[in-house]
Amino acid sequence: MIQIVTGDITKLCVDAIVNAANHSLLGGGGVDGAIHRAAGPELLTECRTLHGCDTGDAKVTAGYRLPAKYVIHTVGPVWGGGSCGEEDKLACCYRRCLEEAEKKGCQSVAFPAISTGVYGYPKDKAAAVAVSAVKKYFRNEPHSCIEKVMLVCFDERTRDLYEELL
Ligand code: ADP
Repeated sequence: MIQIVTGDITKLCVDAIVNAANHSLLGGGGVDGAIHRAAGPELLTECRTLHGCDTGDAKVTAGYRLPAKYVIHTVGPVWGGGSCGEEDKLACCYRRCLEEAEKKGCQSVAFPAISTGVYGYPKDKAAAVAVSAVKKYFRNEPHSCIEKVMLVCFDERTRDLYEELL
């Protein structure tokens, strides 16, 4: 089941929230900054042990002071006009995060709109990739333990885009 949620992802009581991180996993602005602030310094300490993350991949940490049990850190593509494999890389982020959530036995996972902030991915195109990648995952994994995927919108435009798609 896919649910659209408006608001701050750090407040959600779910098994895992996804972080739109950068390669270093050592913190940044946007949703990454908000997650590190809310989780506390222990999150950065654990992130240092992960030695970064490739674009399209995902790595899991504990959630520390967050209501969520886990943070799944993924690195979205930087938008470079659309002909640098951005769509495949973004779809890969959603798939890899769901795979990691599955391994941890998560029933609920919340995603921010990966790459649509500083990384400049057009919001309409990113929303279409998010919805299709999540749907594809469940077509391929009909016995998944994940019962609920929340697509978290931080602005009205993203919410409207998700609503049109679902
Ligand atoms: P990226 O570098 O992948 O573009 P950003 O953090 O800059 O990541 O932005 C990703 C998306 O997360 C943007 O749409 C932004 O509006 C949204 N966002 C920022 N803060 C939060 C938050 N606290 N909760 C949910 N979404 C957020």
